[in-house]
Amino acid sequence: MNITTLCEVAYEANLQIARHKLAILTWGNASAYDAETGLMAIKPSGVDYDALTPADMVVLDVETGMVQEGTTLRPSSDTATHRALYRAFQGIGGIVHTHSPKATAWAQAGTDLPCFGTTHADYFYGPVPCTPPMTHDEVHTGEGYEHNTSLVIIREFEQRGLDPLQMPAVLVHGHAPFVWGTDATDAVHNAIVLEEVAAMALDTVTIRATTDAIAQHLLDKHFLRKHGSDAYYGQSSHD
Ligand SMILES: [Zn+2]
Repeated sequence: MNITTLCEVAYEANLQIARHKLAILTWGNASAYDAETGLMAIKPSGVDYDALTPADMVVLDVETGMVQEGTTLRPSSDTATHRALYRAFQGIGGIVHTHSPKATAWAQAGTDLPCFGTTHADYFYGPVPCTPPMTHDEVHTGEGYEHNTSLVIIREFEQRGLDPLQMPAVLVHGHAPFVWGTDATDAVHNAIVLEEVAAMALDTVTIRATTDAIAQHLLDKHFLRKHGSDAYYGQSSHD
């Protein structure tokens, strides 16, 4: 993918998260990654969505963090989190970070987002994990808060044995969701679904606090008919 296309894809993903009201003001950021070149394009820091252009996207090398020559805008403050997730999670090509209200409410409650039904099961293979709270040292030391945020996410996925392609989202404790996908468009799609299922789950526990998670056989049926080698949902491709 050439750099112009990468920037356009990242720009469009940022517009979509604003359009779908997943991010207001300057909250949130989306990035696109091209594994062939090792480059990512991400929203610049603190620029309003209304004022963004594709040329404003900041292009940088995911391995080194080196920003492309001639760039004047600073990349999103969450760039270190995006970089580390691209390096750790093979096969992802887009990341969206928002403070969308319902998903953020679950992150603030410090609770996994339970899988109560098939809407959730179609996209996320089980409860969406919430990380443990970040310690004082994780917030203040090492390579920095944003990099350490990624380490907390990656460690949680390792400890739980989660496949990032089967669980394309995480709730960062006391913060908000990070969502990814095979490309930036897919990441936006997953972020929209996450917010919807977070709202549904909140209503579900409001109606009945002791609601059980979806049965494993129904979760398996819904997730696996759309994803993986035996998928059959949709037309030519899986989704
Ligand atoms: Zn945030």
